[in-house]
Amino acid sequence: MSDDQYKARMQRKKQHIDSRIEEANIDKGIIVLLTGNGKGKSSSALGMICRALGYGMKIAVAKFLKGVQDTGEDVFLAKQPNVRTVFMKTGFTWDTQDKEYDTAMAVETWTKAQAYLEDKSIDLVVLDELTYMISYQYLEEKMIINSLNNRPKHQHVVITGRAASESLIEIADTVSEIKDIKHAFRANIKAQKGVDL
Ligand code: ATP
Ligand code: MG
Repeated sequence: MSDDQYKARMQRKKQHIDSRIEEANIDKGIIVLLTGNGKGKSSSALGMICRALGYGMKIAVAKFLKGVQDTGEDVFLAKQPNVRTVFMKTGFTWDTQDKEYDTAMAVETWTKAQAYLEDKSIDLVVLDELTYMISYQYLEEKMIINSLNNRPKHQHVVITGRAASESLIEIADTVSEIKDIKHAFRANIKAQKGVDL
């Protein structure tokens, strides 16, 4: 490609990008859904929390299916004055094996998450591992969709978890499916601090 051809090509690209940027002029709270079997869903949500913190925004995090061990981000978030958290008081369901108890814990956590979704002062709500609450039938999907639909106009929401339901995909503005290609765990490498927890 000659220099002139390269220049013309980049000019066309710039024009196209500039016009797309100009068209994207809607300002509203969005729902980001991160699903799929690969690693990187909750840590991506944390990345957005970090961005929002940089702007002094107010954040609320509801962690469903929280493991028994505290993660690095739990320690970090506890020190942030602009972050409120609620953790579901149960480990993974295969530890408790008690559907009634798990359902009660899910409902308790959801009640707090719902209050975040009604609070105009909160700019970003993270609903970590929410998808399982629907797939395990701990929470009613309609109730979740209804709260998401009725949240304050400028409030952003990030939802994470494998196997997101059709309704969540439909209501979300941005959906990414993280594909599992390889995971260190399968090579018997245990979860590493700062990377996995
Ligand atoms: P992360 O919190 O690291 O972004 P995630 O939210 O995408 O991961 P989860 O299903 O919530 O994934 O699992 C959290 C933990 O399980 C992390 O320690 C992560 O490294 C590990 N993990 C994620 N995906 C896999 C996988 N495909 N195989 C084994 N372990 C995994
Ligand atoms: Mg996760």
